[in-house]
Amino acid sequence: MRAVVIGTGPAGITAAETLRRLDPSGSVVALSTEPFPPYSPPALADHFLTGREAPLYWKGRDVCERLGIEERRSSQVVGIDTDAREVVLADGAHIGFEGLVLASGSRLHAPMPGADLAGVLDFKSLQTATELFTRVREGEVSSALIVGNGFIGIELSLLLADLGVAVTVIGRRTWLMPRVLDPTTSRIAEAVLTARGVSLRLGVEAEAIVGDPRASGVLLADGSTVSADLVVAATGVKPHIEYLDDSDITTGWGVHVDERLSTSVPGIVAAGDVAEAADRFTGERYVHAIFPNAVAQAPIAAANLLGADLGYEGAESMNSLKHLGVPIVSIGTTDSPDDVLRWEEGGDLRSVYLRDDRIIGAQLAGDIRAAGVYRSLMLRRVRVGRFGSRLVEPGFGTADLTYDAIGV
Ligand SMILES: Cc1cc2nc3c(=O)[nH]c(=O)nc-3n(C[C@H](O)[C@H](O)[C@H](O)COP(=O)(O)OP(=O)(O)OC[C@H]3O[C@@H](n4cnc5c(N)ncnc54)[C@H](O)[C@@H]3O)c2cc1C
Repeated sequence: MRAVVIGTGPAGITAAETLRRLDPSGSVVALSTEPFPPYSPPALADHFLTGREAPLYWKGRDVCERLGIEERRSSQVVGIDTDAREVVLADGAHIGFEGLVLASGSRLHAPMPGADLAGVLDFKSLQTATELFTRVREGEVSSALIVGNGFIGIELSLLLADLGVAVTVIGRRTWLMPRVLDPTTSRIAEAVLTARGVSLRLGVEAEAIVGDPRASGVLLADGSTVSADLVVAATGVKPHIEYLDDSDITTGWGVHVDERLSTSVPGIVAAGDVAEAADRFTGERYVHAIFPNAVAQAPIAAANLLGADLGYEGAESMNSLKHLGVPIVSIGTTDSPDDVLRWEEGGDLRSVYLRDDRIIGAQLAGDIRAAGVYRSLMLRRVRVGRFGSRLVEPGFGTADLTYDAIGV
């Protein structure tokens, strides 16, 4: 098959790799807007702190050359002609395809006036992160404002603080990472951030990013303005789908895909942050923009493009904070539980969210070893009422499941 992959992020490069492996006589063109080899965004912070390259270029800088993938860097797709079966590049070139993988990922955003001002920086790609850190290294930045308190914004705030920048995080909700953490777990993260010099302004509404001609601060709902050398818009992530505007491919927040990760147009699949796939538990479409979903979807999407018939079990919500110094893991959801079990001692915290006697989510801080057990119980939809509060006590583990199964 003559295949084209849009994007060389974790989803794109994994899809390209799968296509080469399953169809050695076919051809694969992989396109990226960026001038870099395929890289892993979760390694960005480590890369800018330590300079290490191996975790960043996770498949090796030469992955495309090695696998016979035709990599075209600095090539932005601006449209898709689904009738002619061609992608259209910004320089006017057309590339024909028999099969197409959309893996164009997402960027940070904040839907408010001024978000498109010059100088509002992103930390979602190596290109935008390099721009940001060039300014920091050249001494242009002594203060930074991060609008939004999602996990990428929090990771960036720690990194900037470690580099000596005075960082303020502005968040609408009164606790951190509201989509990922509950207020109790957030308290642990807040204490660490504050101790590491990050200033938190939570429960504060940012109305607009302001500055002329470049962004220089944020206007708050109380009418005051907070100024800084650097503004990062990070209330959420927005899939890169603008190039699909004039195509027949159905989109919502991201690209709509079915349980085979096919789009509304035959022979075109999507994977990763750009795909709005069904949630594994609720079945509702959602963009769960995390690495494990991207690399789980990509091989399925690529194999199906070549004629396989593999179902995708659904995207999961699962997050861990790497740079906090205190391990924190969050899985599933905290939405509408009918019971919450919690255990806290000496900095260790475990909270398990239950609905209809089953685990729908769990949050762990400090000792996170039980995360795998909770995830397994959640995925298998095991009724857990019989364990009572033991479920969150230290030592609860797989052995308890075995004892329970054999009735001892
Ligand atoms: C700082 C940071 C830390 C993170 N930490 C974690 C973590 O700890 N755990 C976790 O699970 N997830 C983490 N993530 C999220 C994770 O990186 C993403 O879920 C993952 O990168 C998604 O992969 P993707 O290939 O779908 O998209 P992306 O990585 O966004 O890659 C998109 C690709 O598409 C290309 N592209 C975009 N538009 C076009 C176009 N028009 N034409 C051509 N090419 C285009 C881009 O150049 C890029 O190559 C983190 C992200 C960041 C930024």
